[in-house]
Amino acid sequence: IFITIEGGEGSGKTTLIERISHTMQQRGKTAVITREPGGIPIAEQIRAVILDRSHTEMDARTEALLYAAARRQHLVEKVMPALEAGKIVICDRFVDSSLAYQGHARGLGMDEVWSINQFAINGLMPHLTIYMDIDPVVGLNRISQSAEREVNRLDLESLAFHEKVREGYRLLLEQYPDRIVKLQAENAAEVVYQEAMAVIDARFAS
Ligand code: C5P
Ligand code: MG
Repeated sequence: IFITIEGGEGSGKTTLIERISHTMQQRGKTAVITREPGGIPIAEQIRAVILDRSHTEMDARTEALLYAAARRQHLVEKVMPALEAGKIVICDRFVDSSLAYQGHARGLGMDEVWSINQFAINGLMPHLTIYMDIDPVVGLNRISQSAEREVNRLDLESLAFHEKVREGYRLLLEQYPDRIVKLQAENAAEVVYQEAMAVIDARFAS
């Protein structure tokens, strides 16, 4: 089972994933927790290039290609072997991030970004995507108050950019109503976690 968690900055994706993984473990199921861009050394190195604050000259298409390249390697090295071994894979961000951020917010076009990602993922789509919806004002405020989070190049984007990201996710929800489930990320972490588990259990009752 391949589950992805999506959402804007400060929506609580990482926190949610940790809680879901803990629950899975208590149930005796092996859940592989991973993130994008990253999750394996090659992709973490690509992530560092993308997010480097000094790389202000990075072209939008270059950026989109780097995300797609990191995604490909991460799928091959980590996600596909885990799925083949029957494990549950929960990934912090996946292709919808590229469609919302590079496709819609950055203005490359969702169709264009989808085409390079189709090449990268070669048919492997998540069974379920949990989208953590949050007002960017609230989300950005949350991350500005979190001491451990280091500020990267994309965090410095304008509020208007993050509003467009949210709009991109809204378009994806319309396009993939069966795959993507929206949760209210402004709710307390405990509430969001309970709702996410209810969605997962309803989909994958075993
Ligand atoms: O999920 P996380 O916050 O770790 O993502 C790191 C950064 O990469 C964020 O600032 C996010 O906005 C950015 N990002 C992006 N396009 C993607 C994926 C992530 O701009 N496709
Ligand atoms: Mg995070």
